[in-house]
Amino acid sequence: MQRTLAIVKPDAVANKNVGEIVSRIEREGFRIVGMRLVNLSRREAEGFYAVHRDKPFFNDLTAFMSSGPAVVLCLEAEDAISKWRTVMGATNPENADEGTLRKQFATNIERNAVHGSDAPETAAVEIAYFFKGVELV
Ligand code: ATP
Ligand code: MG
Repeated sequence: MQRTLAIVKPDAVANKNVGEIVSRIEREGFRIVGMRLVNLSRREAEGFYAVHRDKPFFNDLTAFMSSGPAVVLCLEAEDAISKWRTVMGATNPENADEGTLRKQFATNIERNAVHGSDAPETAAVEIAYFFKGVELV
Protein backbone atom coordinates (compact mmCIF):
# COMPACT_ATOMS: atom_id res chain seq x y z
CA MET A 1 0.00 0.00 0.00
CA GLN A 2 1.15 3.50 -0.82
CA ARG A 3 0.00 6.97 0.24
CA THR A 4 -0.21 10.21 -1.71
CA LEU A 5 -1.23 13.77 -1.00
CA ALA A 6 -4.16 15.13 -2.97
CA ILE A 7 -5.49 18.69 -2.94
CA VAL A 8 -8.80 19.96 -4.20
CA LYS A 9 -7.49 23.37 -5.25
CA PRO A 10 -9.23 26.70 -4.52
CA ASP A 11 -10.83 26.90 -7.99
CA ALA A 12 -12.57 23.56 -7.54
CA VAL A 13 -13.74 24.46 -4.01
CA ALA A 14 -15.08 27.82 -5.25
CA ASN A 15 -16.86 26.02 -8.12
CA LYS A 16 -18.51 23.62 -5.63
CA ASN A 17 -16.82 20.55 -7.06
CA VAL A 18 -15.57 19.11 -3.74
CA GLY A 19 -18.39 16.58 -3.51
CA GLU A 20 -17.93 15.22 -7.02
CA ILE A 21 -14.16 14.98 -6.62
CA VAL A 22 -14.35 13.21 -3.24
CA SER A 23 -16.99 10.91 -4.70
CA ARG A 24 -14.64 10.04 -7.58
CA ILE A 25 -11.84 9.36 -5.07
CA GLU A 26 -14.08 6.86 -3.29
CA ARG A 27 -15.31 5.24 -6.49
CA GLU A 28 -11.72 4.77 -7.68
CA GLY A 29 -11.02 2.69 -4.58
CA PHE A 30 -8.78 4.99 -2.58
CA ARG A 31 -9.04 4.88 1.19
CA ILE A 32 -9.22 8.40 2.61
CA VAL A 33 -6.81 8.40 5.56
CA GLY A 34 -6.81 12.19 6.13
CA MET A 35 -9.01 15.07 4.95
CA ARG A 36 -9.11 18.70 5.99
CA LEU A 37 -10.21 22.11 4.73
CA VAL A 38 -7.30 24.58 4.74
CA ASN A 39 -6.82 28.22 3.88
CA LEU A 40 -3.18 28.48 2.87
CA SER A 41 -1.28 31.66 3.59
CA ARG A 42 0.92 32.94 0.80
CA ARG A 43 3.95 31.75 2.73
CA GLU A 44 2.47 28.25 3.20
CA ALA A 45 1.69 28.02 -0.53
CA GLU A 46 5.26 29.11 -1.32
CA GLY A 47 6.61 26.44 1.02
CA PHE A 48 4.43 23.77 -0.52
CA TYR A 49 5.48 24.60 -4.10
CA ALA A 50 9.11 25.48 -3.19
CA VAL A 51 10.44 23.20 -5.98
CA HIS A 52 8.87 25.62 -8.47
CA ARG A 53 10.45 28.73 -6.87
CA ASP A 54 12.38 29.64 -10.01
CA LYS A 55 9.55 29.05 -12.48
CA PRO A 56 7.94 32.04 -14.21
CA PHE A 57 4.51 30.96 -12.93
CA PHE A 58 5.54 30.73 -9.23
CA ASN A 59 4.03 34.07 -8.16
CA ASP A 60 0.70 33.48 -9.87
CA LEU A 61 0.57 29.88 -8.67
CA THR A 62 1.14 30.73 -5.01
CA ALA A 63 -1.33 33.65 -5.21
CA PHE A 64 -3.92 31.26 -6.63
CA MET A 65 -3.23 28.52 -4.07
CA SER A 66 -3.66 31.04 -1.23
CA SER A 67 -6.75 32.69 -2.76
CA GLY A 68 -9.34 30.66 -0.86
CA PRO A 69 -10.07 27.39 0.90
CA ALA A 70 -8.69 24.11 -0.42
CA VAL A 71 -9.22 20.51 0.70
CA VAL A 72 -6.13 18.45 1.48
CA LEU A 73 -6.44 14.68 1.52
CA CYS A 74 -4.12 11.80 2.24
CA LEU A 75 -5.12 8.88 0.01
CA GLU A 76 -4.11 5.25 0.32
CA ALA A 77 -4.18 2.58 -2.40
CA GLU A 78 -1.91 0.23 -4.25
CA ASP A 79 0.30 2.50 -6.40
CA ALA A 80 -1.64 5.48 -5.02
CA ILE A 81 0.76 8.07 -6.47
CA SER A 82 0.52 7.07 -10.13
CA LYS A 83 -3.09 5.94 -9.75
CA TRP A 84 -4.13 9.39 -8.50
CA ARG A 85 -2.12 11.17 -11.20
CA THR A 86 -3.93 9.07 -13.82
CA VAL A 87 -7.31 10.05 -12.36
CA MET A 88 -6.22 13.74 -12.33
CA GLY A 89 -5.02 13.85 -15.94
CA ALA A 90 -2.44 16.11 -17.57
CA THR A 91 -1.38 19.39 -15.90
CA ASN A 92 -2.80 21.36 -18.84
CA PRO A 93 -6.49 20.48 -19.23
CA GLU A 94 -6.13 20.96 -22.99
CA ASN A 95 -3.97 17.83 -22.95
CA ALA A 96 -5.98 15.93 -20.35
CA ASP A 97 -7.71 12.72 -21.37
CA GLU A 98 -11.46 12.40 -21.45
CA GLY A 99 -12.75 11.19 -18.09
CA THR A 100 -9.97 12.77 -16.02
CA LEU A 101 -10.68 15.26 -13.25
CA ARG A 102 -8.69 18.01 -14.92
CA LYS A 103 -10.54 17.50 -18.20
CA GLN A 104 -13.80 17.75 -16.28
CA PHE A 105 -13.05 20.52 -13.77
CA ALA A 106 -9.90 22.51 -14.66
CA THR A 107 -10.15 26.02 -16.10
CA ASN A 108 -6.58 26.30 -17.41
CA ILE A 109 -3.02 25.07 -16.80
CA GLU A 110 -2.80 27.02 -13.52
CA ARG A 111 -6.32 26.68 -12.17
CA ASN A 112 -6.38 22.96 -12.70
CA ALA A 113 -8.64 21.75 -9.88
CA VAL A 114 -6.46 19.11 -8.22
CA HIS A 115 -2.95 18.33 -7.05
CA GLY A 116 -1.17 15.02 -6.61
CA SER A 117 2.27 14.08 -5.34
CA ASP A 118 4.69 12.96 -8.06
CA ALA A 119 7.01 10.48 -6.24
CA PRO A 120 7.29 8.57 -2.94
CA GLU A 121 9.78 11.08 -1.49
CA THR A 122 7.63 14.11 -2.33
CA ALA A 123 4.49 12.31 -1.14
CA ALA A 124 6.09 11.76 2.29
CA VAL A 125 7.14 15.42 2.55
CA GLU A 126 3.77 16.72 1.32
CA ILE A 127 1.70 14.49 3.63
CA ALA A 128 3.81 15.64 6.59
CA TYR A 129 3.33 19.27 5.49
CA PHE A 130 -0.40 19.00 6.23
CA PHE A 131 -0.97 16.08 8.61
CA LYS A 132 0.44 15.01 11.95
CA GLY A 133 0.82 11.24 12.25
CA VAL A 134 -2.07 11.04 14.71
CA GLU A 135 -4.39 12.77 12.22
CA LEU A 136 -4.06 9.93 9.71
CA VAL A 137 -6.39 7.00 10.22
P1 ATP B 1 0.56 19.47 -9.17
O1 ATP B 1 1.97 19.51 -8.63
O2 ATP B 1 -0.28 20.66 -8.73
O3 ATP B 1 -0.11 18.17 -8.91
P2 ATP B 1 1.58 18.81 -11.75
O4 ATP B 1 2.49 17.90 -11.02
O5 ATP B 1 0.71 18.22 -12.82
O6 ATP B 1 0.61 19.56 -10.75
P3 ATP B 1 3.70 20.75 -11.85
O7 ATP B 1 4.64 20.86 -12.97
O8 ATP B 1 4.15 20.17 -10.56
O9 ATP B 1 2.38 20.01 -12.39
O10 ATP B 1 3.13 22.23 -11.58
C1 ATP B 1 2.52 22.55 -10.35
C2 ATP B 1 1.34 23.44 -10.62
O11 ATP B 1 1.80 24.68 -11.13
C3 ATP B 1 0.36 22.94 -11.69
O12 ATP B 1 -0.58 22.03 -11.21
C4 ATP B 1 -0.28 24.22 -12.12
O13 ATP B 1 -1.28 24.65 -11.17
C5 ATP B 1 0.87 25.20 -12.08
N1 ATP B 1 1.56 25.28 -13.37
C6 ATP B 1 2.38 24.36 -13.94
N2 ATP B 1 2.85 24.76 -15.12
C7 ATP B 1 2.32 26.00 -15.33
C8 ATP B 1 2.40 26.97 -16.37
N3 ATP B 1 3.14 26.75 -17.44
N4 ATP B 1 1.70 28.12 -16.22
C9 ATP B 1 0.95 28.36 -15.12
N5 ATP B 1 0.82 27.50 -14.10
C10 ATP B 1 1.48 26.33 -14.20
MG1 MG C 1 3.65 18.57 -9.37
